[in-house]
Amino acid sequence: MSDSVPAPLSARVLGLANLGLIVIDADHRIVMWNQWMASRSGKSSHRVIGQDLFDLYGELRGQRLEHAVLSAMQSSLPQTLSPSLNPSPFPLYPAGTWGGERVEQAVAVTPFNEGKERYCLIEVSDISTIVGRERQLRSQAEALRAQSYVDGLTGIANRRHFDVALDRELRRALRNEGQLSLLLMDIDSFKAYNDHFGHQQGDACLSMVAEAFASMLQRPADLAARYGGEEFAAVLPDTSAEQAAVHAEAIRAKIASLDIGHAPAATRPHVTMSIGVATFDKDQLNSAAAMLAAADSCLYAAKRAGRDCVIVYRPQDHQQETAA
Ligand code: GH3
Ligand code: MG
Ligand code: MG
Repeated sequence: MSDSVPAPLSARVLGLANLGLIVIDADHRIVMWNQWMASRSGKSSHRVIGQDLFDLYGELRGQRLEHAVLSAMQSSLPQTLSPSLNPSPFPLYPAGTWGGERVEQAVAVTPFNEGKERYCLIEVSDISTIVGRERQLRSQAEALRAQSYVDGLTGIANRRHFDVALDRELRRALRNEGQLSLLLMDIDSFKAYNDHFGHQQGDACLSMVAEAFASMLQRPADLAARYGGEEFAAVLPDTSAEQAAVHAEAIRAKIASLDIGHAPAATRPHVTMSIGVATFDKDQLNSAAAMLAAADSCLYAAKRAGRDCVIVYRPQDHQQETAA
């Protein structure tokens, strides 16, 4: 019993194959060009048979596909072209469209002998769908990553973004002995606001405050974040304690100037914020935890001092306090 497939059947299978099949001889002349290639290249097999593949597609000369063919012929070893390094080597377009997006291709090159003749089979698969899906997944992942750094209610940076930024800027300050300041701020009597106006209006108030606060930070490296609940934070690189105090006072005044009506139980008729300021120093405030604790203690002091004010951390006071 013969194991060879009858010639008409082979021809039919080649015509139906859902990938491009090209066979070239040792001189790179095309000896086979299936229907898949014809319908995507716009070149019928009787037009291309006998032509040098690299004359037909001059753009392939010097490219990886030509190198792969030469090396496969020389070494008798198959070669696969990485689709990421060789996107769409052949100018192929989806069958019947004659235009639009070039088909993304994966190409395999397999050398073989038939009798005394040497040939090379080039298989071309359409991976446009896979590549498109990969691209979509990558952009979705990118969007999710971006979202994971944004606070859903206010649209400013979230706590995670703040933690990353503070850590990065602290390491930079440690390396360069630079200046770095941190503001922690908290809306005054916000529980009373919610109780009086309802949670929804509370949310709207948080958004207004966040927008105004973020608009006060001008430098690209500054970061305005929602630290949690009705607390906000700012990371201010290259900013001394004195400069940070000026910024904090401007933010406090800006929030007050919004003149958002407050609940009767609040200390002021309008919404206000208390702010604690701490500045990096390499001996004491040299970690995120230490800077946060210092800013938080100042914020607490601002609340005790009557709210709607700014208190700046001074290491000397702290030494005296702890020494007493
Ligand atoms: P203080 O001046 O001492 O800061 O008083 P306060 O009332 O602001 O402080 P407290 O921590 O007692 O209350 C904070 C309130 O903030 C309570 C909580 O319901 C409200 N809050 C936290 N997160 C949100 C939010 O996402 N939306 C709204 N509407 N309210 C929030
Ligand atoms: Mg609070
Ligand atoms: Mg509060």
